[in-house]
Amino acid sequence: MSSTLQERIAEVSRRIERACARSGRDSRDVHIIAVTKYVSLEATSAVLASGLVNIGENRWQVAESKWEALGHQGTWHFIGHLQTNKVKDVIGKFQYIHSLDRMSLAKELHRKAEAEGLDVNVFLQVNVSGEESKYGLSPDKVPDFLREISGLNHLKIIGLMTMAPNEEDPELTRPVFRGLRELRDKLNGMGLTPEPITELSMGMSNDFEVAIEEGATWVRLGTVLVGHEEGS
Ligand SMILES: *Cc1c(COP(=O)(O)O)cnc(C)c1O
Repeated sequence: MSSTLQERIAEVSRRIERACARSGRDSRDVHIIAVTKYVSLEATSAVLASGLVNIGENRWQVAESKWEALGHQGTWHFIGHLQTNKVKDVIGKFQYIHSLDRMSLAKELHRKAEAEGLDVNVFLQVNVSGEESKYGLSPDKVPDFLREISGLNHLKIIGLMTMAPNEEDPELTRPVFRGLRELRDKLNGMGLTPEPITELSMGMSNDFEVAIEEGATWVRLGTVLVGHEEGS
């Protein structure tokens, strides 16, 4: 990339401000997760030095060396599909898990969190678009899932997460993001969680402005912000 990290942060921040202005939102309610899965330890270190604090990684194997070196400096978000046998690696290291999508994972996360005496912030991943290639609970299964996990008191269900289809025209992703917001509001109306679900983790490099207009509180930005190193 020819631009510097500082320039990209400034540009992304401007675009977030404008999306908030268009939709009457306060930009302080939109948090940036810098997705560092494509870049090196050095580049991840530069991201933290730039003042961004939220780091997103999608595989423990890729994140491990970065976390070992930099873990204490930031807040870590696990955004990828999480295998049950990897829970032991990420618990206590990643403060947020964005990809809870099945009961076996909920139980294992809870078991490990309880053993460590901590609570873990969790987003339920929802497959709003219905694409077969995507992980996530189908929207109609979410109420029962919340009822089933309600006894797992070390899991703090703070939000919902989704991924939109990869569209050339980001406007086409809008129904997916709107669907996640409407699901959140419906769930809150049903009162299935001790605290209302406030957070929406949605929007990536291609579509974050549309996601913000539809209520995103966490946008997960890799390519547009951190960049994408060749061969990684
Ligand atoms: C890689 C990834 C992102 C960031 O993707 P970009 O399009 O590069 O911004 C966001 N969310 C998830 C779940 C990812 O795996």
